[in-house]
Amino acid sequence: MLSNIRVVLVGTTHPGNIGSTARAMKTMGLSTLYLAEPKVAPDGQSVALAAGASDILKHAVTVDCLEEAIADCSLVIATSARSRTLDWPMLDPRQAGEKLAGAAVNGPVAIVFGRESNGLSNDELQKCNYHVSIPANPEYTSLNLAQAVQIICYEARVAHLAMDSETVEVKEEQAYPLAKEQENFFVHLERTLQSTGFIIKQHPGQVMTKLRRLFSRARIESQEMNILRGILTSVDKKVELAQQATQDPQSTKEE
Ligand code: SAH
Repeated sequence: MLSNIRVVLVGTTHPGNIGSTARAMKTMGLSTLYLAEPKVAPDGQSVALAAGASDILKHAVTVDCLEEAIADCSLVIATSARSRTLDWPMLDPRQAGEKLAGAAVNGPVAIVFGRESNGLSNDELQKCNYHVSIPANPEYTSLNLAQAVQIICYEARVAHLAMDSETVEVKEEQAYPLAKEQENFFVHLERTLQSTGFIIKQHPGQVMTKLRRLFSRARIESQEMNILRGILTSVDKKVELAQQATQDPQSTKEE
C-alpha cells in the first residue's frame, strides 16, 4: 500500500535534496519517487545523501511536468510552506497522512513538493485536491525540502500502521476521478462556459479558479463527474444548434 503513495518533487534544483528525499522515503517504507521537470538529475551527491536508499533514486521516474506525474492518481495533495495562499481545502500533516494511507488502498495517490526557491506555482497548486502545510514557526515557516518530505512520509506511515493494527476493512472503492479525468472535466467546463458566453476568452477573470476550488471542496466522485460531463454535453448540443440556427436560419425553419 505504501508503494502506492507517490512522492512528487517539482522543479528541484539541489541534487542533495533528491538524495535526502529518497532516504526520508525509504525510512518510512515509501518507494515511488517522481521528479517533475527537475532542474538537475540525481548525481553523486544525491547518491551520497540517499545513503542506503539509492535504489529509490535508480527507479525514480522523470517527467516533464506535474500534470504528467499525477495523471493516474485519484488523490493529490500539495504541500505549501505558505498556508491558505489560495484558500484551498486545507489539511494538517496528520490528516494528510490519513487520507494518503486510506486512499492508497485503491490505487496511486500523490504528495507533491515544490521548488526550493519558490515552492509550487498557483497553477500547480490548483491541480491538487488538498493543500497541506506543516505548522512551523510562523516567523520561519520554510523547511528544507527533504525534511518536509520526511514529516509527511512519517505521518503516512503512522496512519498506515494504525490501519494495519486495527485490521481496517478495505473500503469499497470510492471511485474518485483520476487527476487527468478531473483535468479533462475542467477543460470541458471552461470550453462550454466560453461557448455560452459566460466566460469571455479574452477576459477570463477568476471564474475557473473559483470553480476549481468549489469542485475541490466538494471532492466529487467519478459518477458525479460523469453526470456533470453529461450536463455539459447537453449544453454543448444546444449551443451548437443555436449557432447553426443563427448561421443558417432558413434550414432550421424548414426542419
Ligand atoms: N520559499 C518557498 C518554500 C519552498 S521550501 C515558498 O515560499 O513556498 C520547498 C518545499 O518544501 C515547498 O514547496 C514544500 O513542498 C516543502 N515545505 C517547506 N516548508 C513547508 C511547510 N511548512 N509545510 C509544508 N511544506 C513545506
